[in-house]
Amino acid sequence: MSNEKIPYKIYLTEEEIPKQWYNMRADMKNKPAPLLNPGTLEPLKAEELAPIFCEELIAQELDNDTAYVDIPEEIQTYYKLYRPSPVMRAYHLEKALGTPAKIYYKFEGNNTSGSHKLNSALAQAYYAKKQGLKGVTTETGAGQWGTALAMACSFFDLECKVFMVKVSYEQKPFRREVMRTYGAEVTPSPSETTAIGRKILADHPGTTGSLGCAISEAVEVSTQSEGYRYVLGSVLNQVLLHQSVIGLEAKAALDKYDITPDIIIGCAGGGSNLGGLIAPFMGQKLRGEKDYRIIAVEPASCPSFTRGKFAYDFCDTGMICPLAKMYTLGSSFIPSANHAGGLRFHGMSTILSQLYHDGFMEAVSVEQTAVFEAAEQFARTEGILPAPESSHAIRAAIDEALKCKETGEEKTILFGLTGTGYFDMVAYEQYHNGNMSDYIPSDEDLQKGFDGIPQFPGNEI
Ligand SMILES: *Cc1c(COP(=O)(O)O)cnc(C)c1O
Repeated sequence: MSNEKIPYKIYLTEEEIPKQWYNMRADMKNKPAPLLNPGTLEPLKAEELAPIFCEELIAQELDNDTAYVDIPEEIQTYYKLYRPSPVMRAYHLEKALGTPAKIYYKFEGNNTSGSHKLNSALAQAYYAKKQGLKGVTTETGAGQWGTALAMACSFFDLECKVFMVKVSYEQKPFRREVMRTYGAEVTPSPSETTAIGRKILADHPGTTGSLGCAISEAVEVSTQSEGYRYVLGSVLNQVLLHQSVIGLEAKAALDKYDITPDIIIGCAGGGSNLGGLIAPFMGQKLRGEKDYRIIAVEPASCPSFTRGKFAYDFCDTGMICPLAKMYTLGSSFIPSANHAGGLRFHGMSTILSQLYHDGFMEAVSVEQTAVFEAAEQFARTEGILPAPESSHAIRAAIDEALKCKETGEEKTILFGLTGTGYFDMVAYEQYHNGNMSDYIPSDEDLQKGFDGIPQFPGNEI
């Protein structure tokens, strides 16, 4: 089909919103390594996870075999409030770049919480309610997950306690108020309200917090509160499962116009949007049906894939969570105050880690000022004010499109535009004032994090 016939916006109809999620693990020959009990180093059983997580979500977490999972009717009714999300053709950006490449992006910022995170928040709140729970606890970095979860909990009438990384709590007071508008209780982390928070504050006075600290606090509160469980907005297999709705929609939309991407790009914090966007494409790749170049983009300040170790590690600073085998910078690694809060996690999804390890995807790291340069070029051509996290994918997509300009290749690029940046104007302000730095950790900095990775037979790094 010729270029001219491809619309700016490719929408599916409401009926075409996927009714099942797709589980990439079913098609992986090398399954992601199981979560381990840190005490016994044995794979965790559902019973052991039950005090922390919701039952149905544990079943999804441990299921490496079921390819398609029905999306419950009630979740579908909430997906309809903001889905399908459009696949956009970036005609204006292409023109500004003077590239022969065709650039598409799947825009997930089209809901009030402002990111893709609502896709999993709705599922997690639904299953918690179905189990008869009273409430859930969680952490939030930049605030997108907390906002999405607060909204989902208000829909399903659940209590919601959010530990927000202190630097974001202070930088983004309006995000906090959005969460409170949806009924959530928000505490800056590390806080004095938990034992682990008090310990972290004593060990690191003046710390601005990290996702790892906030996770430890949220887990502690969930296990000590009657009728509560802990929920997580990224990294876990269940979250990638829920986020597959992004890729399934994107593929269905592109298929309508016989468009096949050559390159698929997404930013990677814990890996959920990327895992979701690539899901059906990776499925084809794993089954040997088609090939795609898949690129994870991470900040140079928190380079889990590109400079991390593939090893079992803790998911949290307090070392109370299970061990996950993943690309990690070490659970004690606290990245510099990069503005892409959603990309500051020290680890990575075990599914994506295995796929990267097995050569099914690539990774690049990009520096912060280059990311904001791309964000601004995107805003000025396509009109959407992108989140700093999403702008990592924009940077990489622009770089690939510029390579096409040199070689004359008409490649088709699809990237994930995960959210909007309205609450990130302090970061944009620093960029505009020339005060943004690009702190890249030295090998010595990283070594300190690696030294904290647990050592046991088979886990040598
Ligand atoms: C949380 C977030 C990310 C990163 O998280 P993943 O789990 O890696 O997808 C990216 N973009 C936005 C807008 C986010 O809120």
